[in-house]
Amino acid sequence: MKLQEFHAKRLLLAQSLPIPAYDVAETADEARRAAESYLAGGAERVVIKAQVLVGGRGKAGGVKLASTPDEAEQVATQILGMDIKGTTVSRVLIAPAADIAREYYLACVLDRSSRRIMLMGSAEGGVEIEDVAANNPAAIKKIHAHPHLGLLDYQARQMAFALSLGGPHVRDFVAIALGTYRTMIDNDADLVEINPLAVVREVAADGSTRESLQCLDAKITIDDSALARHPELELMRDLAEEDPVDVAAREQGISFIRLDGTIGCMVNGAGLAMTTMDLIKRAGGQPANFLDIGGGAKSERVAAAMSLILADAHVRAILVNIFGGIARGDEVAHGLVEARGQQERHVPMVVRIVGTNAEEAARILAESGDPDIQTAATLDDAVARVVAIASAAPVSA
Ligand code: GDP
Ligand code: MN
Repeated sequence: MKLQEFHAKRLLLAQSLPIPAYDVAETADEARRAAESYLAGGAERVVIKAQVLVGGRGKAGGVKLASTPDEAEQVATQILGMDIKGTTVSRVLIAPAADIAREYYLACVLDRSSRRIMLMGSAEGGVEIEDVAANNPAAIKKIHAHPHLGLLDYQARQMAFALSLGGPHVRDFVAIALGTYRTMIDNDADLVEINPLAVVREVAADGSTRESLQCLDAKITIDDSALARHPELELMRDLAEEDPVDVAAREQGISFIRLDGTIGCMVNGAGLAMTTMDLIKRAGGQPANFLDIGGGAKSERVAAAMSLILADAHVRAILVNIFGGIARGDEVAHGLVEARGQQERHVPMVVRIVGTNAEEAARILAESGDPDIQTAATLDDAVARVVAIASAAPVSA
């Protein structure tokens, strides 16, 4: 689950990371009032930023500066309602604008290949890290945290030196890097990214200037499987920006992952679902999804699974592969027939149900009289038939 910047910053603030004050506004008027208060408080300018879950907001025109309340209102009017990569902006963040001297990149990521948390840093911050990785991979420094001891002070210092930070910044950087790591651990995140981590110039009341490190942007993704442990984070979920199909799947307790093929799969059990996908591939077909309907699948869940599969216009045939244990075959068969009745789009379906009440399931499907439902006695037969249908069928949208 991705968090919006203003939520991510809240988690970083909880670890005492340096973040400029900010407000969130849903209307241009609210944005104006927030700007007024920062400008009256001594800020020369404010920054107004679209709150959307896609990256590269700056380049898309979703991050702008303003020097007066009027200008802030204008800019907020422009950004609110703006479309950024398919997402409509409904909120902006307003903060006193930082006077940036240099921009760095800092992130903690879960490095699956080494099974450790990895600290990544670059002196080429501000731009998207994928671009740095493509054009100048040597500019990205990586350090792995110890699996038991965590990220150690000396490792954070090594990163500071690798980024050529000096003087008082080293100490501050170490605190920020360790705080980033703690944010990762405490929230079961798989990414905590600060880009830019900026050296910011500040003018004191006596006119002297000093520089400090500030986290100007924050991106956090939480491991979905750990959300049960973090009800407070679940509340930060932004349903408006999630794929409605994913939202529906989660509500029904169905594990569903969309893929690019043409054969929809409805299977019970994650292992059987993976095996089914392997068999489809081996027979020359392409699965359109991974779908584990879960244990004891009732007809309502079967119908919901059918809707998820059919929401994908690329699906040309469906393979239903159910091993009846706790899930009863007749229950699933009833669910399939009912679901067919509710769907506007009909695609051919090959059903293989074995185990508990399999004979009854076959009878229910036969009696439905639906010409698009075929039953298969073996998995190999089912796979061969569904692949043949999907290869022959025209794309129906
Ligand atoms: P992103 O494009 O979605 O990553 O949004 P960011 O918050 O990282 O902003 C993009 C760029 O806008 C940053 O790299 C900065 O160059 C600039 N920017 C963001 N905040 C400020 C600010 O407070 N002051 C100034 N001068 N520039 C900023
Ligand atoms: Mn950024």
